[in-house]
Amino acid sequence: MDYILFKKSISENIKVVAVSKTKSTEKIKEIYDLGHRDFGENKVQELVKKYEDLPKDINWHLIGKLQRNKVKYIAPFIHLIHSVDSERLLNQINKEGDKNNRIINVLLQIKISNDPLKTGFEYSELGDMFSGSIFLKYKFVKIIGFMGIGSIDQSKNEKEFKKISDYFNKINKIHDLKYLSLGMSNDYKLAIKYNSNMIRIGSLIFGSRN
Ligand SMILES: *Cc1c(COP(=O)(O)O)cnc(C)c1O
Repeated sequence: MDYILFKKSISENIKVVAVSKTKSTEKIKEIYDLGHRDFGENKVQELVKKYEDLPKDINWHLIGKLQRNKVKYIAPFIHLIHSVDSERLLNQINKEGDKNNRIINVLLQIKISNDPLKTGFEYSELGDMFSGSIFLKYKFVKIIGFMGIGSIDQSKNEKEFKKISDYFNKINKIHDLKYLSLGMSNDYKLAIKYNSNMIRIGSLIFGSRN
């Protein structure tokens, strides 16, 4: 679909992250020139290279698995890390935030699907972390919401999305959360129905990947 038409079809209250993984800087620049500023990548090395090559007012989102030894490469500039899936990683992001003297915004990734390759916190783990007040523990990390990736089997998505949405609403009553990052090209409409206000759209904007 055409970017402009797609963007027009989405409410202004929903943040669209254009997922540009595997796409060239020229392609990204085309979407940038239409006014888009939020781009997402799943690999640190590719993200850093694109950060260096593209205009500095882009908000870069990391949406893929992050290894602790790679946090240092993105800490100086990353806008939002969606894929925080362990406390050890949170601790590392906090250290790098301290070194760079900036507070790094993150989402906690929740494992909403049983697909073998999907990572994230279990709901049960989060309950323990929140009662130990993870929200105050790290001075250089700000937890501003949750991220989820639905099962490949789309018949499971409705149940998964409802559960994370209910959980988001529940935690949001106690802690001030901002984003529920849920939904990709093939399931974003369902995600929005379940209160997602940040969607990660790759192939619909950039065309399919090989
Ligand atoms: C690739 C990717 C997307 C975008 O997928 P599309 O189906 O191309 O929209 C969204 N979220 C994550 C975590 C991804 O890795």
